[in-house]
Amino acid sequence: MYDVQEIRSDFPILKRVLPNGKPLVYFDNAATSQKPDAVIDAMTRYYKTYNSNAHRGAHTLADEATTALETAREAIASFFGASPSNLIYTSGTTEAINLVAYAWARRNLSEGDAVVLTEMEHHADIVPWQELSKEIGIELRFVPLDLKRMCLDMEAYKHALPGAKLVCVVHTSNVLGTRNPIEDIIALAKESGARTLIDAAQGASHERINFKNLGADFLTLSAHKMAGPTGIGGLLATNEALSQCGPFLTGGQMIRSVSTDGSVYRDGAALLETGTPRIAEAIGWGAAIEWLSKIDFTQMHDHIKSLAIMAFEGMTQIDGITVYSDPTRPGSSGTISFLHERIDSNDLAMLLDEGGFALRTGQHCAQPLMDALGVASTNRISLWLYNTEEEIRSFLDHLRMVCDRFGA
Ligand code: PMP
Repeated sequence: MYDVQEIRSDFPILKRVLPNGKPLVYFDNAATSQKPDAVIDAMTRYYKTYNSNAHRGAHTLADEATTALETAREAIASFFGASPSNLIYTSGTTEAINLVAYAWARRNLSEGDAVVLTEMEHHADIVPWQELSKEIGIELRFVPLDLKRMCLDMEAYKHALPGAKLVCVVHTSNVLGTRNPIEDIIALAKESGARTLIDAAQGASHERINFKNLGADFLTLSAHKMAGPTGIGGLLATNEALSQCGPFLTGGQMIRSVSTDGSVYRDGAALLETGTPRIAEAIGWGAAIEWLSKIDFTQMHDHIKSLAIMAFEGMTQIDGITVYSDPTRPGSSGTISFLHERIDSNDLAMLLDEGGFALRTGQHCAQPLMDALGVASTNRISLWLYNTEEEIRSFLDHLRMVCDRFGA
């Protein structure tokens, strides 16, 4: 049985009462998730008892730090059905995509080569490619949305594919909650001879992704959206893709030897991690993975979906509210964007904050998607495994009250 109260008891912040006396209702999980005690404690334990640099000193603490860093890598890689030698620690999805743009694309693409993107991408999966386009003249092809169904236009995707060298697609939209048909997207890209990069910043906390089964060349992750700490995430890359990469950041750790005449680099994932690793963060992410491993993702998904549908049905009945998401779609993540036709989105967010509801307002680092929707910003609730029916009910009551009072 899915016991949401037991899950909540692992998250100290969920007991928080805000300065205005309202209990916190955290609906901003697509921005970052809250952290369970297990993560906070693992990081504190590292700093209190074995803080030391990894892969360097020959002393007990250094051994312990190195073991913890690499044990976390094994646990994280295994959670995603990958081998530890295919996981590169990065600061998150943004750095992981930039890594692919610098270390792989700059060596394997040239002027006129096409990269397929979508209008649903986060800026992290647009701007690095625009930079590359300015630098070496690659062509960017954007797949549009099917606005009726709030999903990608797959026919347009098929048209964009011929001759493309790389396809970069978001697994799950941080604005709409739409889960893209990435299996079909990858299969079609493969048939067409294009490599694939899947941005799983949102998707990884909502379904068990198996990197090997998925068949993508690159998969990007952000730990902080899946119960882990900020400052770390990763890139999963196949051996073949890794063998085509050059260095990304250069300096210590990624080298075999350095002399005043030149340097010899390491291979594979080791080439792509430079400088002191994110040790505490990796340990925290490993602890998050261990904690998440105990969650039944199917039950979690059903729980979030039922909450999202309840929120969606309530919101669509409130006069003046337009909802841009469809949480009834298969795989939707519980992220719902909406607007009130007369209350400014920032004012609405402030009025909801007064009720204790933490949600996001703005363009969500997805301006091309905002343009496609024909709006400048949206309000967004994004639910996760610890949200409750009671929270949705009180949110709908508060939203109704705000809209009645200020939306006339
Ligand atoms: N892609 C998507 C879909 C996201 O939601 C985010 C974070 N909002 C990112 C990329 C960037 O992730 P990060 O800020 O952790 O690098």
